[in-house]
Amino acid sequence: MSGIATGQLDRWGVPIGRLAIIAGPCSAESPVQMQQVAQALARADIWALRAGVWKPRSRPGAFEGAGAEGLRWLVDAARAIGRPAATEVATPAHAEAALQAGIGVLWIGARTTANPFMMAELAHALRGVETPVLVKNPVSPDLPLWLGALERLQAAGVQRLGAVHRGFSGEHAGPYRNAPLWRIPIELRRRMPTIPMWCDPSHIAGDAARVEEICRIAVELLFEGLMIEVHPNPPSALSDANQQLAPAQFLALVADLEKRRPRAEASSECERRLSELRHDLEDTDRQLVRILAARMQLARCIARIQKSHGWAMFQPDRWQATLERLQAEGTAVGLDPDFMADLYRLVHEETLRQKSEEAARDGEGGEE
Ligand code: PEP
Ligand code: MN
Repeated sequence: MSGIATGQLDRWGVPIGRLAIIAGPCSAESPVQMQQVAQALARADIWALRAGVWKPRSRPGAFEGAGAEGLRWLVDAARAIGRPAATEVATPAHAEAALQAGIGVLWIGARTTANPFMMAELAHALRGVETPVLVKNPVSPDLPLWLGALERLQAAGVQRLGAVHRGFSGEHAGPYRNAPLWRIPIELRRRMPTIPMWCDPSHIAGDAARVEEICRIAVELLFEGLMIEVHPNPPSALSDANQQLAPAQFLALVADLEKRRPRAEASSECERRLSELRHDLEDTDRQLVRILAARMQLARCIARIQKSHGWAMFQPDRWQATLERLQAEGTAVGLDPDFMADLYRLVHEETLRQKSEEAARDGEGGEE
């Protein structure tokens, strides 16, 4: 593997210039499953073998992990291929058990990062450790919570601290399980430039078929590492079956990423910044489309009410007032009033088209 510079990872046991790949199943399910996946992954240049043994489930009844017993399966499988084992810890007791079992990399899950009380307890339990600790972003797009979790661990003297971008839940995830919102990890990088960053494309994508596209973006944005879920037989996985790659898919993906990877020397600071900004721009455009669609839905509801009361669909006074309000609001943030007027006319035209389509729907008296 020749690769991008990972200057941040010099002290982490990652060969200089290599992408630090953490791979393995969502959950440790059995000793056999762990050995199978480890042997398959040994053929790629992975940094650490992952598996969750305590699985935070939103609702009871799902597979909650093998528990402490799974630590042994994970550590044995990782030792067999000469790589450190990585697992998620959510409580001081987990952290203690994991360190005692010989886990070499700890990560803190999205639900835990979101809880400052738990982060304070974990920071206390992990004070001064040399074992790398990676902090996933919180489930909601709340940068201060992510920064706060990292700062608590930093203040506790955790020596090797990293961040993992795993996407954000909410209504606007588009085709993904968790919206990537690249601007948030990019801002984290700006605020904490010495913290190496991983991207977890599996939890962002939620679908094995979309893991690759997220990896490509992460590599372009010069993340130092990737955390990818790989299962010896994904359809049979006890958790996150849809998003785990089969070993052959993973090996092909890693080989392909290597070929496409921009070399750090060729990627000037300026190119890197441009690529970050372009991704942000695309993200913003996607949001614009979703906001326009939401506006049309509201207009359709209004059309139904207007129709049921026999009111006109177009109210000239309101139209004029809205235009003036938007021009004033636009001017306040540096948008040209003529541009605002053109934009509003276009949006309004499509709104009217959608409203008349709604009003023409037969049968209904317009009741909500
Ligand atoms: C995981 O890595 O399997 C996991 C549960 O991650 P997250 O905290 O990102 O949901
Ligand atoms: Mn998972």
